[in-house]
Amino acid sequence: MSVYLKNVTFSYPDIPNKPIIAIETWSVSKQEKVFLHGRSGGGKSTLLNLISGILQPDVGEILVLNKNLRQMNNAERDKFRANHIGYIFQQFNLIPYLNAVENIQLAQRFTKDTSKSIGELGIKKILNTFHISNTDSIAPTGKLSIGQQQRIAIVRAMINQPEVLIADEPTSSLDEMNKNIFMSELLEMISKQNTTLIFVSHDLSLTHNFDRIDTLEEINSLKESH
Ligand code: ADP
Ligand code: MG
Repeated sequence: MSVYLKNVTFSYPDIPNKPIIAIETWSVSKQEKVFLHGRSGGGKSTLLNLISGILQPDVGEILVLNKNLRQMNNAERDKFRANHIGYIFQQFNLIPYLNAVENIQLAQRFTKDTSKSIGELGIKKILNTFHISNTDSIAPTGKLSIGQQQRIAIVRAMINQPEVLIADEPTSSLDEMNKNIFMSELLEMISKQNTTLIFVSHDLSLTHNFDRIDTLEEINSLKESH
């Protein structure tokens, strides 16, 4: 099992009596590709932050790669995330004044396993396969197009060969053409690395790429009161 949640509830401290997440069980198998959608403000990003150990549940157990996040301290959770979980967001994935190579090297620095590290030439070679030229690889990423930035974000998220990739609405700022390039390159990379994928999006035209389509409202046992 790649991800497993049992009796998890979570509420933000400023509204302690109203859990955003109340999930009895939810699991994702190894190498499964899950498309998760649901209403805006429903708690999708919150759930992703729980799975990556950025947020802690009020109660319940979250296992990632059969490791219970509750049994780790903060430093251990940070290290676990750096080594095992990749993350791609809607935007602001990259540090804009650093170039692509530097952004990717930064991700490598957070992992302890230096044997996995790939040098500058190797990074450029991977970027080339994502249609990022050597010239663009050394330009500040803030100067590149959003399509290029999102493709670099794939490389950065995957450079430490994480077993789990979490993508939070990664295509919503892309036009149709860049969305298609992004999806095919993402799917190729995760199939090469046998990665489990949890992908949040509103774009139902993408669902054919996935093994399973879940809505948060189905897995959240919490009953809406509005
Ligand atoms: P989604 O990703 O499905 O749009 P979110 O997980 O971002 O939903 O948000 C779920 C709910 O939690 C929303 O009502 C949002 O306003 C609230 N929320 C999100 N982040 C915080 C926070 N840091 N503090 C308090 N409330 C938050
Ligand atoms: Mg969100």
